[in-house]
Amino acid sequence: MSKLIEKDQAFVASTYARFPVALTHGKGSLVYDEEGKEYIDMGSGIAVTAFGMADDAWRAAVESQLSKLQHTSNLYYTEPCAALAEMLCARTGMKKVFFGNSGAEANECAIKVARKYAAQRRGADAHLIVTMKNSFHGRTLTTLAATGQEHYHELYQPLTPGFVHVTAGDLDELRAVLATGKVAGILMEMVQGEGGVFVLDAAYVQGAAALAREYDALLMIDEVQTGNGRTGSLYAYMQYGIEPDVVSTAKGLGGGLPIGACLIGARAEGVLGHGDHGSTFGGNPVCCAGALSILSRLDDALLAEVTAKGDYIREALSGAKGVKSVSGLGLMIGIEPEDKSASDIVKNCLQNGVLCLTAKHKVRLLPALNIPWDDLKRAVEIIRAAFAE
Ligand SMILES: *Cc1c(COP(=O)(O)O)cnc(C)c1O
Repeated sequence: MSKLIEKDQAFVASTYARFPVALTHGKGSLVYDEEGKEYIDMGSGIAVTAFGMADDAWRAAVESQLSKLQHTSNLYYTEPCAALAEMLCARTGMKKVFFGNSGAEANECAIKVARKYAAQRRGADAHLIVTMKNSFHGRTLTTLAATGQEHYHELYQPLTPGFVHVTAGDLDELRAVLATGKVAGILMEMVQGEGGVFVLDAAYVQGAAALAREYDALLMIDEVQTGNGRTGSLYAYMQYGIEPDVVSTAKGLGGGLPIGACLIGARAEGVLGHGDHGSTFGGNPVCCAGALSILSRLDDALLAEVTAKGDYIREALSGAKGVKSVSGLGLMIGIEPEDKSASDIVKNCLQNGVLCLTAKHKVRLLPALNIPWDDLKRAVEIIRAAFAE
C-alpha cells in the first residue's frame, strides 16, 4: 500500500470504501494513478467532470476568474453569479435561482420553498413532502429523510419529519397522499441514479405533474445527477413533457467545482425573500465561472452526441454475455449482471484500466459528456469482457 493511502486511512474519516488507487492527474477521459497507470474514466467523479479532467475551456474560465476575485460573500453582486442565473433561467424557463454548494443543499432549498409556498397559502398543516421509494436526495438529515431508502435512515433518528415515500408508478397511492390536503410538494428524480439507474415512466411523471397542480403542491425535480446534459437533454424532465415548479441540480453543473442550484419557476417565484435562505459560499464566482463554461457548451450538437454515445453503450452491452439488462437514459447507464456481483465487475474493470461505478446491484456508467469515441469503445470492450469472464 502506498504512503498516501496509509495516510488517508489513518486520518480521513472512513466514510468511503475507496479503491486502492490514488489518482494524481488526468486529461479528458483519461486519468492516471501514482504509479503512472492509465484508466479510462467511465464515472467522471460521479457525473461531475462533465467535460473530463482539466478541460481546456473550463480551466481557462476558472483560472481567469480566479485571478480576479475568488469570493466576495453574498453582500455584493458579482458578474459570474448573475450571468449563470440568467443562463439557467433562459434555458429552462425558470424564474429565479438560489445557489448553494451541493446537491443536498439544492434539495434543502427546494424543500424550504415548498414548505413556505404551502404554509402561506394553506397553513402549517400543508407541510408534507412526497418523495419516491428507492430515491436518493442527499446526506443531510433533511435530505436523508427525503431519501426513500430505509437503510440510510436507521442510526440517525429522529430525522426531519414531514416526508412520505410512495412507490414510483402507483398514481393511486400518490393521489391518496395528496388528497389529505397536507402536501406541500412532490420531489422526484426522472432517473433514480443511486437507486439503480431506474428510469421513471412518462405516464406516471405526467400524472404526478397533473396531481401536483390539482392539489396546489409544487412539482420539484431532483436533477442533481440527471441534469446538465447527462441524459441527452439539458435537464431530464425536458424529455417528459412536464413543467416543474422547482428544479434542483448540482454534480455536473460545476464541471468539478462545488456548486448546487435550486431553480424556481413562476408559481413559486416570489416565495423566497430577504433572510429566507442563505449560503456563505453559494454563488461563488469561481464556481459560477466554471459552470457558465459548462452550460454554454451544452448545445444541441453536444446533447445529440450524448444520446448517440448512450445508445452505443446500450446496444453494445444489451444481450452481451453475463448481462441481464441495461437501463438508463443518455450517458447515465445501469448494467445488471446475470449472476456476478457488480462490485466484482467494477474491480475487474479497474484492474484492466477502466473506472466504473455501482448503483445497487448494477454497474453504473457516467462518462464525461464529451468522451472521445475511441476511449468509449475501448472502455466498452473491457466492460463487456468483465461481464463475460
Ligand atoms: C448525488 C445526489 C444528491 C446529493 O448531492 P451532493 O452534492 O452529494 O449533496 C442528491 N440527489 C441526487 C439525485 C443525487 O444523485
